[in-house]
Amino acid sequence: MTAAQDAARALFAELSHGPAAGAWSAPGRVNLIGEHTDYNDGFVLPFAIDRRTHVVLGTNDGGDIRVASTFADAPVVVPLDGLDRIFPTTGQPAVPEWAAYPLGVAWALRHAATAPQVGVDIAIASDVPVGAGLSSSAAIESATATALNDSWRLGLDPVALARIGRRAENEAVGAPTGIMDQMASMLGRADAAIFLDCRSLDAEIVDLGFAGAGLQLMVIDTGVTHAHSTGGYRDRRDACERGAAALGVPALRDLSVDDLGRAERMLDATTFRRVRHIVTENQRVLDTVRTLRAQGPAAIGALLDASHASMRDDFEISTPALDTAVAAAGAAGAIGARMTGGGFGGAAIALTPHDRVDEVALAAASAFDEAGFAAPHVFTVTPSDGARRDE
Ligand code: ADP
Ligand code: MG
Repeated sequence: MTAAQDAARALFAELSHGPAAGAWSAPGRVNLIGEHTDYNDGFVLPFAIDRRTHVVLGTNDGGDIRVASTFADAPVVVPLDGLDRIFPTTGQPAVPEWAAYPLGVAWALRHAATAPQVGVDIAIASDVPVGAGLSSSAAIESATATALNDSWRLGLDPVALARIGRRAENEAVGAPTGIMDQMASMLGRADAAIFLDCRSLDAEIVDLGFAGAGLQLMVIDTGVTHAHSTGGYRDRRDACERGAAALGVPALRDLSVDDLGRAERMLDATTFRRVRHIVTENQRVLDTVRTLRAQGPAAIGALLDASHASMRDDFEISTPALDTAVAAAGAAGAIGARMTGGGFGGAAIALTPHDRVDEVALAAASAFDEAGFAAPHVFTVTPSDGARRDE
């Protein structure tokens, strides 16, 4: 039993008068490659990690949904039939922001399925770092959705639950994110990544084989959090939509690298660079999947490095701290490194031979120190199973 599982149990005992009906959990994720391609109908290659959000749930006969998190001082209590008065959010949150994640999932589930729904008490604890680009948001959504799907006997499949999580994040929280994170958290497999076509939602399992190749996936968290619902993320989405409209395609997914000459002639310089990132990044995802299958993970380093350069120079979502982490990791022996997640903060990943892990961690720490950044939080993650019932 992990500390977070224990914490969820203890919190449930404080929250609820009745017994727990069960315990569920769902992981955060790392995106190996394919950044900002999801909302362009493109390809991504995330994997679920060994950091999870735990939910302990029991029923109540008051018809309320009561949610508590180790994050928050106090539980939030809403009548189930009052959720429609809160969501979709109009920008003026009626509940604390954290509570919009689990309550938004309940709201979206009530619209997706008609089985009778009893009141529930939900206690939440997590060891997924928040705002580090590891998708603590998908972890809380997927854990809550899986717990409610079982408890309310809704019978929805994992892809349907991923859609529920996305709807909660988009419409209840108000963050305009794609569906990659929820799919990874729902469908993850030990030692494998999810190759996802974000248009069709077709998902294939791709073996990673890091351990067999003597590699570890390191996360170098800058500690700088990002805010999805504001600023740069929305701006990049707008640029992509503008580019697709100007080039007459439904989404940037419909362009290939052969179209870039035409795109450069038709678009302003900034929009062109945004488009070029998406088009080349989609190709890099396809190349990474092919390389993993044909040659194994030791051969994908250059693709990771090229992805970072594209995000730094074309999409301009990296930060000096992320660039420092990537450069230091490469110099200390990582075979490839890139920022991961939405950007503007968060974490970098570095695929690193076992015997270089300590050196990469030290190199990142001293490079940050030299540049005057707060010390990074460095750890390794293991590709792990997706959402599940634990007890
Ligand atoms: P990321 O998904 O990269 O970690 P987001 O900004 O998308 O960052 O989501 C983080 C937000 O999700 C937190 O600020 C909080 O509102 C919510 N959240 C995540 N985990 C929990 C948790 N265990 N308890 C309560 N809220 C959580
Ligand atoms: Mg998130």
